[in-house]
Amino acid sequence: MTFHDVVVIGGGGAGLRAAIAVAETNPALRVAVVSKVYPMRSHTVSAEGGAAAVAADDDTLDEHAYDTVSGSDWLSDQDAVEAFVAEAPRELLRLEHWGCPWSRQPDGRIAVRAFGGMKKMRTWFAADRTGFHLLHTLFQTALSYTDIVRYDEWYVTKILEDDGRAYGVVAIELATGRIETITASAVIVCTGGCGRVYPFTTNANIKTGDGMALAYRAGAALKDMEFVQYHPTGLPFTGILITEAARAEGGWLLNKDGYRYLQDYDLGTPSPTPVLRSMELGPRDRLSQAFVHEMDKGNTIDTPYGPIVNLDLRHLGAKLIDAKLPFVRELCSKYQNIDPVKELVPVRPVVHYMMGGIHTDIRGATSLDGLYAAGEVACVSINGANRLGSNSLPECLVFGNRAGRAAAVFAARYRNVVPKSIEAQGRDEVRRLTEELSRHADGHERIADIRTEMQTTMENGAGIYRDRDSLAKAADQLKELQLRFAHAAIDDHSTNFNTELIALLELGFMLDVAESIIACALQREESRGAHQRTDFPARDDERYLAHSLVHREPDGSSRITYLPVTITRWPPGERVYGR
Ligand SMILES: Cc1cc2nc3c(=O)[nH]c(=O)nc-3n(C[C@H](O)[C@H](O)[C@H](O)COP(=O)(O)OP(=O)(O)OC[C@H]3O[C@@H](n4cnc5c(N)ncnc54)[C@H](O)[C@@H]3O)c2cc1C
Repeated sequence: MTFHDVVVIGGGGAGLRAAIAVAETNPALRVAVVSKVYPMRSHTVSAEGGAAAVAADDDTLDEHAYDTVSGSDWLSDQDAVEAFVAEAPRELLRLEHWGCPWSRQPDGRIAVRAFGGMKKMRTWFAADRTGFHLLHTLFQTALSYTDIVRYDEWYVTKILEDDGRAYGVVAIELATGRIETITASAVIVCTGGCGRVYPFTTNANIKTGDGMALAYRAGAALKDMEFVQYHPTGLPFTGILITEAARAEGGWLLNKDGYRYLQDYDLGTPSPTPVLRSMELGPRDRLSQAFVHEMDKGNTIDTPYGPIVNLDLRHLGAKLIDAKLPFVRELCSKYQNIDPVKELVPVRPVVHYMMGGIHTDIRGATSLDGLYAAGEVACVSINGANRLGSNSLPECLVFGNRAGRAAAVFAARYRNVVPKSIEAQGRDEVRRLTEELSRHADGHERIADIRTEMQTTMENGAGIYRDRDSLAKAADQLKELQLRFAHAAIDDHSTNFNTELIALLELGFMLDVAESIIACALQREESRGAHQRTDFPARDDERYLAHSLVHREPDGSSRITYLPVTITRWPPGERVYGR
């Protein structure tokens, strides 16, 4: 058994920012960062477009807050949004001081670009490799703190909990198969999203919702799980993201007739230059829904990888594309074999981001004492029913910092009080994992089959549009998949890098997360943001201006309650774009 004052699960943007915050707040504390991949391989590295924070003189915190609140279809908590917009500029500037090479204007000021649903230009960027530079900056800064100890390529299987309080984790060292109990006075979950629950996603293979399921199983509530964001522009075969920055720089979306169809969807009028608030720079939920309507009208183009529309960047020219979208050109060339300077880019909506996650308060505290969460795995909530592009990276920084500071204070207050029962729990988990390996050795179901069926179930049942029948059917299918999961086979019995065992554990987490998405979506009988019910097409503030909270019952079933949204200054209104 090893002890650290604070254990951070996850070495992405939120995890590293949280670890640095703990070390800064109280240098006497020993921090562990446990990550299933080397930190620089975390999904944050693939963020392209940028990070939003007020920078220009003609922009205000209130405008950033209002765009975020209306973008969220009024489901965000406005106290959290106000804290977020106020702290985001400080966080991005601090990153600059730590070495992040933000792109600049010719006069030396920070360059900003437009982004979807943002009515002012406020998205800072480092070309179109923002996530890479941001993560690198955090990683090298974390390295300078000797009290931050890393467990790279360790996989967390359980959060240790006793009497409503978290006391650490159990993790497997992937290289050796060694299972270790790592106790702590506070735990911060920063494990990112769960896009892999769906078949077609921009998310890396590692985004399997582990942290959501770990916290849920430990007794913490999950919040707003029904809100799954589809990004309108993924490459059709791979799901690789073509960043919103491509549209911010002036790209157009064209249907099969070469027509800028978004002008028919109350998103503004066409223009030869990028115009804030309008058309291609509408919010992601509306653009993905418009695609479905174009498909229904027969205006999309059929391909072996599903229906597509085209993104036209040709009029931007090679010079601009090479200066501001070099990664887009590289991705199109390597993965689609096309040059966006000369050719149209085929795209279709793709699962991108999870608005829901572990329920936290504004300091990152969950419903379990000593358990904190930040980043995509958490739901504070600033994103509500629909996140605005470029709000997630600053969210990782602002709330990673907040969770780190709060956990540091908690850990210092309750140092070294790990109860005896935790040691026994750790031993039980080692036994469970060993037994799982031998039990599944006799299994007859393939992990890949169950995973594929789960993904198809989610796409059919809870895609861009859903209704009671599709959701109820998905709930039944998931129950059946859970039963089959108990008989999944493991053929690899080695201890070194047993990726099959990890795939099994990830699938178990994903099935729990999938069930929570469906359960929340079934109960919310309205349409708001990314949750569009064809049987309840209107937003219903009277019944549902509230967060869904899903709790796990002792028998494994779920119970849903509702928590009112915090409104400070912006009463619910109509979401208006392009007018
Ligand atoms: C392609 C793409 C482009 C994006 N572009 C932008 C953008 O331009 N702007 C923006 O604001 N947002 C963007 N986003 C969203 C944003 O990048 C993510 O929401 C954010 O980076 C998530 O960071 P995170 O720290 O919460 O999680 P991640 O970066 O996903 O890190 C999760 C960490 O948890 C660890 N982990 C997970 N499970 C376990 C386990 N069981 N045991 C141990 N460790 C575990 C992983 O190893 C990893 O270190 C983009 C997302 C994608 C997919």
